[in-house]
Amino acid sequence: MADLGHGLSGAAVVGAGWAGLAAAVTLAEQGVRVTVFEASRSLGGRARRVSIDGVDLDNGQHVLIGAYRETLRLMRQVGADPEELLLRLPLELRYADGFHLRAPRLPYPLNLLSALLGARRLAFSEALAAMRFLISLRVRKFRVLPDCSAARLLDEHSQSGALRTRVWEPLCVSALNTPVERASAQIFVNVLRDGLTGARKASDLLVARTDLGRLFPQPAAEYVKAHGGAIELGTLVRRIARFPGGFRLNDAQAFSSVVIACGPQHAGQLLVQLPALDEALSAINAFAYEPIVTCYLQYPESVSLPAPMLGLSGGIAQWVFDRGRLGGPKGLLAAVISASGAHEELTKEELTARIEIELKAALGTLPSPQWSQVITEKRATFSCTPALARPEAFTAISGLVLAGDYAASEYPGTLESAVRSGIAAATAMGEN
Ligand SMILES: Cc1cc2nc3c(=O)[nH]c(=O)nc-3n(C[C@H](O)[C@H](O)[C@H](O)COP(=O)(O)OP(=O)(O)OC[C@H]3O[C@@H](n4cnc5c(N)ncnc54)[C@H](O)[C@@H]3O)c2cc1C
Repeated sequence: MADLGHGLSGAAVVGAGWAGLAAAVTLAEQGVRVTVFEASRSLGGRARRVSIDGVDLDNGQHVLIGAYRETLRLMRQVGADPEELLLRLPLELRYADGFHLRAPRLPYPLNLLSALLGARRLAFSEALAAMRFLISLRVRKFRVLPDCSAARLLDEHSQSGALRTRVWEPLCVSALNTPVERASAQIFVNVLRDGLTGARKASDLLVARTDLGRLFPQPAAEYVKAHGGAIELGTLVRRIARFPGGFRLNDAQAFSSVVIACGPQHAGQLLVQLPALDEALSAINAFAYEPIVTCYLQYPESVSLPAPMLGLSGGIAQWVFDRGRLGGPKGLLAAVISASGAHEELTKEELTARIEIELKAALGTLPSPQWSQVITEKRATFSCTPALARPEAFTAISGLVLAGDYAASEYPGTLESAVRSGIAAATAMGEN
């Protein structure tokens, strides 16, 4: 086992979310002895399994896309086969009101051309406007003004009607978890570049057929342990103190290097204890956050959706997923509300009642659900606003690096940005 040259006990990773586990897997692969400290009793952070009344659910419905290159690579590395664990669907935006766009399995741009021209309830002029928009972005090498919002970009390119309300706005809110008026146009364009105009498979939607824990966190922890590392659950790191050649955690164990892989609000509490990290700290302190609400409704087994994922419009819920078609209990639906909005004023009971009404309007007569559960993540992601300063993995302190979906990246707060930052942090540590 490498000890990173200081004779201390390898590397500590603080946080067992997808970023921390990606860092730990990468360090373990390099032969570094790694210890992961996780405050809670479960792995996975914001993308974890939760058990409610004996039913395994996710703390929030997640969707991956084919462009999540590093997440898929790391899943394979730890023995979690994406082909088996994820349902791969060609890009499809299907709404209860009849709007339907589906990309055939053809190379770009034929897949998009065919999807747009063949979409139901999308005017021919809107399909052409969409192609003009993507061509114009490509001509500009997918660079837009850093302070531009996604809404302004769409306005400037005359993206209106169903094209806007059924395609671009929902894609932006789902990917950036930020309303278009406040969302960074540049990050949205990066997502479009890699998701829509890259290799054909990049635009595929990948929906888990199992719980989030089995997708990566559990096999990643097993991988770390099999490579001589340790995972310490239920261990809150309250203090990181620096001494020549290393760091002491909670006034106890000493390590030659540390990856701080907590969510931004918790990372800030640790960074404030260390000198010379003002820049990273002030970037984190300037973050605003956006919620995501997932409302699970267990209907009788006979209830199902016409597709694994269905768009809703005109109400508070944006998407509904049929967990029964995704390896979960039959009749279990998961309605998702991304980003902040008026729904935040509602109680859980009022939210559930509103979503029941929206589902009935979309699907026709429905019996009452047997049970329901609302899971609200108030700080699901940072608000992905224009020209947002995000801290780099490298810090001013040698041997101390940051990882997390919020770290400097071309992507919004997603599993892929978390995983990429974990890999980058582990690599940076090797170079430090
Ligand atoms: C409801 C919801 C839906 C989402 N949907 C999608 C989606 O569809 N697609 C997508 O790509 N992304 C989605 N995301 C975003 C994605 O889940 C996050 O970007 C990603 O999980 C962040 O991972 P992370 O490792 O950076 O941080 P976290 O998951 O927050 O991990 C940090 C970990 O550190 C631990 N910790 C904190 N402080 C300490 C401490 N002092 N000591 C020890 N441990 C500590 C925490 O307990 C946590 O486990 C969604 C998020 C939510 C909440």
